[in-house]
Amino acid sequence: MRRSPLVIAAVLAAVVIVGVVLARRASHRTAVVTTGPGGGTSLGGPTAPGDLVIRMLDVGQGDATLITNGGSVALVDGGPDQNALGARLDALGLGHDTTIDVVVLSHAHADHYMGLRELFASRRRLKVRYVFENRDASTNRTLATLRDSIIARARRGELTYRDSDDPCGDGRPVCTITMRGGARLEVVRPDPSSKDPNDRSTAVKIVAADSSRFTMWLAGDAEREELAWFDQVGYPTQPGMRADVLKADHHGSCNGVTAHYLAEVHPRRVLVSVGAENDYGHMHEQAKAAYRAAGVPWYRTDRNGTITVRVPAAGGAFTVTPEHPGESLDGQSDRASTSGECRSMTGDEAPNAQRPRRRRRP
Ligand SMILES: [Zn+2]
Repeated sequence: MRRSPLVIAAVLAAVVIVGVVLARRASHRTAVVTTGPGGGTSLGGPTAPGDLVIRMLDVGQGDATLITNGGSVALVDGGPDQNALGARLDALGLGHDTTIDVVVLSHAHADHYMGLRELFASRRRLKVRYVFENRDASTNRTLATLRDSIIARARRGELTYRDSDDPCGDGRPVCTITMRGGARLEVVRPDPSSKDPNDRSTAVKIVAADSSRFTMWLAGDAEREELAWFDQVGYPTQPGMRADVLKADHHGSCNGVTAHYLAEVHPRRVLVSVGAENDYGHMHEQAKAAYRAAGVPWYRTDRNGTITVRVPAAGGAFTVTPEHPGESLDGQSDRASTSGECRSMTGDEAPNAQRPRRRRRP
């Protein structure tokens, strides 16, 4: 009889908000840290099995964040390019004949879902156990094809496909996934009423086994409208948005950050997933000004490559290690946004301000 080894966790409701516990599987392949592409750069150094390791992968203009803990593997978004995601998984020994326990697609934009197609390429023989996404209607054929692959596996009983608007399937807004090393992923319902795909971003909070040691907040491409909605529905209290590390919303766009948001999350470090050449001017000068004003340094994938956060199981402080050194760097596409909603932000006066080359919202 085929049964998912995931235990749906009403029994754990007393200790976590939960939904899903990732049971230990003998066949599972542990994440292996190997040499990075190109210059022999280590992607974050050696890893003990119980460490919580979060890698913001360098995949160009998009998002792909890989989380490993105790042999469990989760991926939040897949970036804009199948080959780029496949190469990053290969470099970590996760590209073939292994299991990706959880995939969260934050929202239905190509720079987040295109790379996920690689997980379903038959030559890779990857097993994907859970997929969370908002399942919003889309006319995009590529997304439809990806969803067909997910649905086909779900029908065969190989995969569970969850709507992030009801992530645990029980009406609660937060679904907690416990990884084998004890770390937790909290999948957080997006704003149900927004018509803007960015403001339909599903947030994920990553919590170390000892929650006092590390938390990270990722909210896809959420813009101010959804950030305000998070406040309205009490997310700052439950699941709690305070975090040691913040993934910059919307690739460092000025519409993905406010002083209030930074005060709420109160991060010690911001990680930005952004392409070196992008049409949007990311990172916007206003966003960098906001991070500076809050006293938070940033790393960015276009300059720093893959960025690795490690919370050692043995104790001690978490570390943030860029593939290439340098913090709070500028990038070649950075400019001040001229959009009205960012005009009041201090970065408007930045010397390299110029008009956007093209108006698109990735
Ligand atoms: Zn995006």
